[in-house]
Amino acid sequence: MNTLNADLHCHSVISDGTLTPEELAARAKAQGVELWALTDHDEIGGQARAAAAAAACGLDYLSGVEISVTFLHQTVHIVGLGFDANNDQLAQGLAQTRGGRSQRAKEMADGLAGVGIKGAFEGALKYAGNPNLISRTHFARFLVETGVCNDTYEVFRKYLTEGKPGFVEHRWASLKDAVHWITQAGGMAVVAHPARYKFSANEELALFTEFKGFGGQGVEVVTGSHSAAESVSYAETAREFGLAASRGSDFHSPAESRTELGALPALPGELTPIWTLLADLIQRAPISTAAVT
Ligand code: AMP
Ligand code: MN
Ligand code: MN
Ligand code: MN
Repeated sequence: MNTLNADLHCHSVISDGTLTPEELAARAKAQGVELWALTDHDEIGGQARAAAAAAACGLDYLSGVEISVTFLHQTVHIVGLGFDANNDQLAQGLAQTRGGRSQRAKEMADGLAGVGIKGAFEGALKYAGNPNLISRTHFARFLVETGVCNDTYEVFRKYLTEGKPGFVEHRWASLKDAVHWITQAGGMAVVAHPARYKFSANEELALFTEFKGFGGQGVEVVTGSHSAAESVSYAETAREFGLAASRGSDFHSPAESRTELGALPALPGELTPIWTLLADLIQRAPISTAAVT
């Protein structure tokens, strides 16, 4: 089961990806993915389309989302898997956490205007497939389009991270609320890409201890943004905290992403893959209709 090609983390135009849910499903299938989840940021508006597209191309599917959380003054991402995508409390919680994005984007544009980059709000909005989910990624695409930077990574480094002109401190959902929204909707919560945070050892201990205490059940051990050594390190965290392990590319765009859908190492042995705990919640693809007609 640890060798299943599961990709349980990626983004569509419903958040900050460049492909539609249908294009992602087809691409995942073509790349050999066997179990897929679309995990748009703070938004489940693409879930019905993703599940239908997965079924149509013969791909098993788990519902997904990636919720932005503020924990000890840093942004942490919590992936939710296997929840009921029609759950009201989850939808309301996500709507609430999306609420501050437009104001934040205007403040980001003001910061960029201060260093001579004009029209960034309108420019970023043009790239947002979902105007309620304007993100730093959309600003990054605008700054590449206008030739300010060569690629989105350079934009983040120079303009959109802490201390840089386009960065705005923002308060997202609490860890407790995010885990609760997911679990009360019947899903499981997973700490996304843990190696990307800048916590001290004690802060990281607090993150996992509180996460587990609130009912969180998994950690991304293998992700597009982990080195091999980081995967080994968080495999150890999974064992220490009794968490299941997840695997996902965090794919956003064919032009921008460094990791292709499904193109990841297998989970290290001895860990419990989160999909074995979610087996009953997997939306199994029907047997190909082509074979029976
Ligand atoms: P936001 O939710 O608006 O803060 O945007 C966060 C998104 O920006 C993440 O989900 C990534 O897609 C992207 N991102 C964050 N940091 C970086 C980085 N250093 N380089 C490239 N993309 C990044
Ligand atoms: Mn993103
Ligand atoms: Mn993330
Ligand atoms: Mn992501």
